[in-house]
Amino acid sequence: MMMGCTSKKYRVSFDSLGFKTAKTMYAPGDAVEVSYMVGTDMDYWFYSDDVDFDQDYDWQKGVILRFTMPEHDVKIGVSSRNSMTAEPYANQPPEEPGPVDSGGEDDSGRKWYCPECGTENYGKFCTECGKARP
Ligand SMILES: [Zn+2]
Repeated sequence: MMMGCTSKKYRVSFDSLGFKTAKTMYAPGDAVEVSYMVGTDMDYWFYSDDVDFDQDYDWQKGVILRFTMPEHDVKIGVSSRNSMTAEPYANQPPEEPGPVDSGGEDDSGRKWYCPECGTENYGKFCTECGKARP
C-alpha cells in the first residue's frame, strides 16, 4: 500500500507570459489544458522537455495545449517570430566594401584581376582571398 502519495501535485509553469491554465498545480493523471492567445502575424512554436502535448486551436482562446499530468513538474516554453520577416537573411545589410584608401598618390581604383583566384578587384587587396595587388 502506498500511503499519502495520492494527494501529491505537481506544478505547471511557463517560460513567458501569455499562458493561461485553470490551476497551477495538478495531480498526476489530471487532464491539463493550457491556452495561449496568439497574434495572427506571428508564428509560434511550443515546446516542453517534460511532457508531450497535443496542440489545438480555438478562435476565442487561441492555441490550446492538452496533456495528461505526469508525475513531475512541467515547464512549457514558446518561441515566436514575425511571419512577415521569415526570410532569414532579408534584413542583413549588403557586404561592406573594403576600407577606402585616402593616400591619393597610388593607383588604387584601377581594376586588376587576382592572379590567385581571378576575382576582379579595385582595392589594394583581393576581396576574395586577401592577396595583395601585384
Ligand atoms: Zn584572390
